[in-house]
Amino acid sequence: MDAPRIGVGIDLHRLEPGRPCRIGGIDMDSPVGPVGHSDGDVVLHAVCDAVLGAAGLDDLGTLFSDKDPANAARDSSEFCVEVMRQLREAKLRVLSLDCVIETEKPKIAPHRAAMRARVAELFDVPVDRVNVRGKTGEGVDAVGESRAIRATAVALLG
Ligand code: MG
Repeated sequence: MDAPRIGVGIDLHRLEPGRPCRIGGIDMDSPVGPVGHSDGDVVLHAVCDAVLGAAGLDDLGTLFSDKDPANAARDSSEFCVEVMRQLREAKLRVLSLDCVIETEKPKIAPHRAAMRARVAELFDVPVDRVNVRGKTGEGVDAVGESRAIRATAVALLG
């Protein structure tokens, strides 16, 4: 095997009341949801960018422009399918993923297990090699003031 490759991805979306809330591929009951051209799934966007970065491929915003009407309100799992297609073409696979979600609302803990399972499925990696964790913003900056949600992901490829 070639030397493993590491990549990092970061994403942030504004939160607004009354928006659908899908995070890490899981639909949640939440008073607020991410604003985005697609479904605004910060976790899937951050993980896709981490995988693309590690593989030396174009980033998510280049592959799926937010100016393209075809991507409006799009289910981000479709982005993952394309990222995985490109990864296989590059003869690479995901060895492990870790993702930290910074948000005040919605609370992540009740959904962690489901998110891990969904991310593992989408990126074709065993669930014990995927982690998703929530953190609060301690009341400061846009995340702490509940105006935004941020995800940071690290991907290891082999
Ligand atoms: Mg995004």
